[in-house]
Amino acid sequence: MAHYPLYGHIDGPIVIVGFGSIGRGVLPLIERHFSYDARRVTVIEPRGDHHAFLRQRNIAHDQVALTPSNFRAVLGKHLEPGKGFCVNLSVDVSSLDVMRFCRELGVPYIDTVVEPWAGFHAATKDIEARTNYALREAVRDEKRRNPGGATAVSCCGANPGMVSWLLKEALLILSRDMGRKDPVPENRAGWARLMMELGVKGVQIAERDTQISVRHKRIGTFINTWSVEGFLAEALQPAELGWGTHERWLPPEARRHGVGCQAAIWMMRPGADTRVRSWCPTPGAQFGYLVTHNEAISIADYYTLGEGAQPEFRPTCHYAYHPCDDAILSLHETFGVGRIQARDHILDETEIIDGIDELGVLIYGHSRNALWYGSRLSIQETRDLAPFQNATGLQVASAVLAGMVWAMENAGAGIVEADEMDHGRCLEVQRPYLGPVEAHYTDWTPAQDRAEPFGAPVDGNDPWQFRNVLAR
Ligand code: NAD
Repeated sequence: MAHYPLYGHIDGPIVIVGFGSIGRGVLPLIERHFSYDARRVTVIEPRGDHHAFLRQRNIAHDQVALTPSNFRAVLGKHLEPGKGFCVNLSVDVSSLDVMRFCRELGVPYIDTVVEPWAGFHAATKDIEARTNYALREAVRDEKRRNPGGATAVSCCGANPGMVSWLLKEALLILSRDMGRKDPVPENRAGWARLMMELGVKGVQIAERDTQISVRHKRIGTFINTWSVEGFLAEALQPAELGWGTHERWLPPEARRHGVGCQAAIWMMRPGADTRVRSWCPTPGAQFGYLVTHNEAISIADYYTLGEGAQPEFRPTCHYAYHPCDDAILSLHETFGVGRIQARDHILDETEIIDGIDELGVLIYGHSRNALWYGSRLSIQETRDLAPFQNATGLQVASAVLAGMVWAMENAGAGIVEADEMDHGRCLEVQRPYLGPVEAHYTDWTPAQDRAEPFGAPVDGNDPWQFRNVLAR
């Protein structure tokens, strides 16, 4: 990419909340793709590690932690009504509160996750209240109560985020490959109907991260390729999944919700201690973790035909995450010891020696069996494409860029999730940063190769029942 397209002018202050692995990766993309007054960028970040880096770039650093009592005053100091952009890439800061405040001011807003304030998970004894379903419903309530207004893009990273755009593209590829002449759907009902007519039963967000560093993980350190704090928070939330109309068996530890869209169920066990059978192009069949994610619920909700707990059609949807090998070892240790490690470390682009982040959607249950469609970005390619990030980071940062572009081109759109955005435009912006974006059909099913000693499939009539996906 010798020439970088300029996507627009941001008039007013740009405030970045949180400057961790993703913040560091988003900044160079903002610098490349928008014009703005360089004196009007502020990073709100309690840690001092990147102070020198920010100073070198003449970026103001407000070294403070946002809290429920100070966030209005701190943000109010830097934001300007009706102008600029607020990019929330922090942990431990309520996405909903910051989004609400930005919309009161008429400032465009974006985040990558529905994050609660620090201490929420530890202090909340009601497990259902800790689900992403509950966190997402609070944002959807805000959208229902205050429709329209300044554009606020909720949950726009790689996943949640990009995978919703890849899913639409995958449905169009499947339609084409089936020899159908479906027009591109124009609304939510049209997309849901297309998915149903294609015979898709479910969607796995299937990811394999093979990035490795030269050093071995040491006991007592949690290692990951993105936020350790963010990953541990979701890893220890209950497993959750969008619950499809084709499912015939409810796991005994599953629970339904009494309120809200009813698109998902949750399980009385942590997601990162719950394995599911999955498939990605590089490894083929693999175990992933049923870590809860906003997109598992938003996709199941978006593609619902009908309403409530018994709709006409709804896909099953869940994450099947195989993080990098060091993170797998780290989780093993966390659950074995029963406590979070004292030290953590995010592998950065300077220490990773090899590997890719393979992240896509596996749409299954149709007459072609299953189609994986996604990004297979390597660390080597990442280094050539953008500075200060690994492959995982670039998939996220480029989705944030696409979300910002969409928000600027769609002012006054109110609160939106990735499913509700123009997937074609977003992928157009993001694709140059995704490495190979490929479609792979597979004849693998979760009922395959399960002969003794590994256990026979539990539902032989429909290989794509969640009963077969869930590993026992
Ligand atoms: P990180 O842990 O590397 O960085 C988070 C930063 O937030 C840290 O620098 C931390 O000091 C800062 N922070 C903590 N408390 C704060 C407070 N009270 N006020 C302001 N800043 C505070 O995390 P990351 O890898 O950069 O991820 C950032 C966010 O993006 C996380 O919420 C993560 O879950 C999310 N994420 C989403 C996706 C996706 O695909 N949707 C992928 C990766 C990360």
